[in-house]
Amino acid sequence: MSNKIPVGILGATGAVGQNYIHLLENHPWFEVTYVAASPRSAGKKYHECVENKWLLGANVPAAVANLVVEDANFPEKAKGKCRFVFSALELDSKDEIKALENAYAGLGIPVVSNASAHRWTENVPMMIPEINADHLAVIDAQRKQHGWDKGFVAVKPNCSIQSYMIPVYALMKAGYEVKRMFVTTMQAVSGAGYPGVPSLDMIDNVVPYIGGEEEKTEKEPLKIFGKVEGGKIVNFDGLKVSAQCNRVPVIDGHTACVSLEFGDKKPSLAEIEKIWEDFSGVPQELDLPFAPKHPIIVRHESNRPQPRRDRNEDKGMAVSVGRLRECPIFDIRFVGLSHNTIRGAAGGGILNAELLKAKGYIS
Ligand code: NAP
Repeated sequence: MSNKIPVGILGATGAVGQNYIHLLENHPWFEVTYVAASPRSAGKKYHECVENKWLLGANVPAAVANLVVEDANFPEKAKGKCRFVFSALELDSKDEIKALENAYAGLGIPVVSNASAHRWTENVPMMIPEINADHLAVIDAQRKQHGWDKGFVAVKPNCSIQSYMIPVYALMKAGYEVKRMFVTTMQAVSGAGYPGVPSLDMIDNVVPYIGGEEEKTEKEPLKIFGKVEGGKIVNFDGLKVSAQCNRVPVIDGHTACVSLEFGDKKPSLAEIEKIWEDFSGVPQELDLPFAPKHPIIVRHESNRPQPRRDRNEDKGMAVSVGRLRECPIFDIRFVGLSHNTIRGAAGGGILNAELLKAKGYIS
């Protein structure tokens, strides 16, 4: 008998769901015991559902290959088969996802979600554990509001903002006010799920539009930098963000070109590099299994970071930054890069769940 915590994956057959299955294969605390997806997949063995769309190497992990996929729209089927679920669902509307995630929580099954549906619910924490581990405190208010004892919902932010949020936060934590941020992203095709953007739109091309992405990029940092007050998260109001988001023909790895304007106190480039190199947060203090040893990796070459070379740093969980230099309009500019389906999706979700377990919210 395994001592690991049994977990379920909702949306297990999709791009993010497959990453959960892959990344959890030898996880020291969690074991996948339940998989669910759409009614199209329900009733089939997992390996049959993904045989023509498995994205992660030669074979589906043996422990999951023969699990029978359930219909994720029936939360009661998960009862007794897993202690909590990762949600990587894509449904027709955000309201449907919200209602379904609430239904799992209502059955006492905590939901660690990648979907955007609950990101703006005031008492749902939107976590990057190196930045806002203290936001977990709102879970008590969430449980009280719904009358849930064990269940709750915690979410991850949008995948592309991971490429620069930790570096920006590190500067704020070191005492430098960041007043304005200009971001241009170059986002990988895997961020659009499977099969995603048609190949004839993507090969030999750049698409300068990703539906809803610029709005998320401009708003989500304000909640993540917010503070807990009266059982909800109050957004930070000291930062303005302007974003332009592009889809580029890269398989994995979102890159962002970022310019920052500081308040009166401005760090030198050498200070910034030192702050980034020395930075660590709660996941590193707690030595969580998915925490990168160094959350920020500073590259000094003039042509890095690059998706193919840098996306897999420290299990795909570290953020690589480079090209740090002065900016003639704002104060500084740099390029950030992170793995969108690992740090930006399943790996980030696993780190959230590890933090939740370490803090006693998942037992
Ligand atoms: P995807 O590849 O399209 O997978 C969608 C999953 O949802 C599949 O398992 C699918 O099952 C299931 N599904 C579809 N319709 C359903 C229904 N009516 N009832 C129940 N299940 C249904 O999408 P993805 O890229 O993995 O994204 C999943 C979620 O994570 C989305 O909310 C997305 O916004 C978010 N996210 C994605 C990324 C990324 O990098 N890709 C990053 C951050 C967040 P079938 O296979 O049976 O159709």
